[in-house]
Amino acid sequence: MPTLTPSHVVTFARRAQLHTPRAPRQPPVAFITRRTGEGPATAELELRSDDDGIGVLSYADETFADRDSHGVLWRRYHQRRDAAGRLAGEPVAGRVHPGRLREAMSLLTCPICACPAHRADDGWLFLVPRAQRYAEGQLTMWPPVCLAHIGAYACARPDLRHGYAAVRSADPVPYGVSGQRYRFADAAFEAVDVPVLVPYERARGRWVVADRLVRRLTRIKAAV
Ligand SMILES: [Zn+2]
Repeated sequence: MPTLTPSHVVTFARRAQLHTPRAPRQPPVAFITRRTGEGPATAELELRSDDDGIGVLSYADETFADRDSHGVLWRRYHQRRDAAGRLAGEPVAGRVHPGRLREAMSLLTCPICACPAHRADDGWLFLVPRAQRYAEGQLTMWPPVCLAHIGAYACARPDLRHGYAAVRSADPVPYGVSGQRYRFADAAFEAVDVPVLVPYERARGRWVVADRLVRRLTRIKAAV
């Protein structure tokens, strides 16, 4: 019986490769996709007075990282990472991690690969629902994207399932937040109705815990 030399092994391996159908290419797991084991962290809410005596919703163990530069309180979310700092856990289809979505919106990075989103002379590249028809000053809770991940991003966003348009915004200014409103009842805080959209200019004193950053797309035009 002939023995297999290393050159035979290489030859057989090449043949096998030629006749083995390639597995369909999987889209990348988006940076903003929620992983198993991730979710909101419980935090005890309390009321305190700010410097002007206005009642402000806060965490009992609040830290500097819990508020943004506008003084808005943000919900805490667990993140699963391995020892090397990479995201861990299985992706949960169709679910977004609000903390990483906020990071991408804050830094204007791609929600798929977390690299800088594409920026040309006329602005950052955003995707908007095609049926919506883009308009100057429209609001969005979705970050811009890099050129390599336009298709993957369009597939990942439920609001783009009927088509999308690529636009550029030269000045996507922070507008406010989307979040959960609270009221005080029976000696405890309880969530009120559906999420609300709060402009930063009217956020002061509002009992809202933010989940999403909202930007206003100004100096907008169709991407070419
Ligand atoms: Zn990307």
